[in-house]
Amino acid sequence: MENTLPPVPDGNGQTPAFWQRPGSGRSALPKRIRNKLICIAVLFGLSALIMAVGLKTTTSVLFNGTLVGVVESKEIADDAVAKAEIRASEILGKKYSISDGITYRKGISASNLSSEDLTSAILDKIDSIQRLHVLTVNGKIIGGAENRKDIENLLVSILEKRLSATSMSAKFCENTQIVQMFVAKGSVPDLAETKKALTTKREDGTYLLNVETVEEVEYVSSVAFPTQYVQDNTMLEGESATLTPGTNGEAIVTEKMTLRDGAKVNSEIKNTKILSNPSPAIIAVGTVPRTRSKGYYIWPVRGLLTSGFGYRNIGIGGAFHYGIDIGVSRGTSISAADGGTVIYSGFYSDYGYMIEIRHDNGDVTRYAHNSKNLVSAGEKVAQGDVIATAGDTGLADGVHLHFELVRGGVRVDPYGYLK
Ligand SMILES: [Zn+2]
Repeated sequence: MENTLPPVPDGNGQTPAFWQRPGSGRSALPKRIRNKLICIAVLFGLSALIMAVGLKTTTSVLFNGTLVGVVESKEIADDAVAKAEIRASEILGKKYSISDGITYRKGISASNLSSEDLTSAILDKIDSIQRLHVLTVNGKIIGGAENRKDIENLLVSILEKRLSATSMSAKFCENTQIVQMFVAKGSVPDLAETKKALTTKREDGTYLLNVETVEEVEYVSSVAFPTQYVQDNTMLEGESATLTPGTNGEAIVTEKMTLRDGAKVNSEIKNTKILSNPSPAIIAVGTVPRTRSKGYYIWPVRGLLTSGFGYRNIGIGGAFHYGIDIGVSRGTSISAADGGTVIYSGFYSDYGYMIEIRHDNGDVTRYAHNSKNLVSAGEKVAQGDVIATAGDTGLADGVHLHFELVRGGVRVDPYGYLK
């Protein structure tokens, strides 16, 4: 018998040129070969993809079974793990082992972490460590919060509370910084505690944070009046009299000042607007030397007139007495009867210790029998200045002042000239 295929009738009665086993797939290839080809195709396609987007083989790092990151090589991963272990130990204050929980897996990935990023990613996965925004004041940790904004808002609210209506700007005196860092969980005061630390006065009455504000204030201030001096030749030197009292003016002053917790540390007058000008005080000042003669004589000492000017009726003979004697106790101060120039001071025969003063009108007054002369020839003295002390030197019976007035070269009775 001939091996013939049964004729398959079709529409037009022709024999088909292609055969297909009933029930098979589209490919005529055996299944095993087909799978291999698909595999090759997929690998080829992946290679094409890797080449197209620059993918590389990478090392995935798992910590306690969870993927923490992908790095370029196992060396980088080892480095990151070692660093994370050191950091974690530092943060927790005790030896902390990470490597036990770390596993690596080779793979392909589009994103690679740096060693440092992987270290952070591992630390993030440690339960007893947390990533916080930490506030430091002059380098010292005060507290922390998960959101940086919370700390910023707290700082702003503190600044705002210390502002006044005239504050132009405000800043903290201390160096404040907000830094993100890993800390042991619970080791850093939380936001509420931080707020309390910053807003409560310490034992010494100061705050942890001092605020410096710049203020600009305006106020009305008086403007001091100036003083003008005019010379007056009717008054003695050292004497003065107010001719016109001064009046203060007024001005609006704009002051810019720096306050450190309310205490002024710096100030600058920015502007002064005069509202009313001050008017000056006018003061007369005496120019007359106090040693100038006044033209009248005062008693050089106060005492009993024991002998007048003229002929004496008592004692030896009838000698003429060219002065007056005033009895005083030894050491009594003797004053110049008027201002003038001392023209003699010394011991003179019967006069004993004697002083002569020439006055501006040419008169000379004489003071004799002194126990001690207190001025020298050439000195200027004022009326009333003490020039000597009373005694009994020269020809004198008892302590007294012998006083003479010489006018036009002639000794006259001084009694009537004394006031
Ligand atoms: Zn006498």
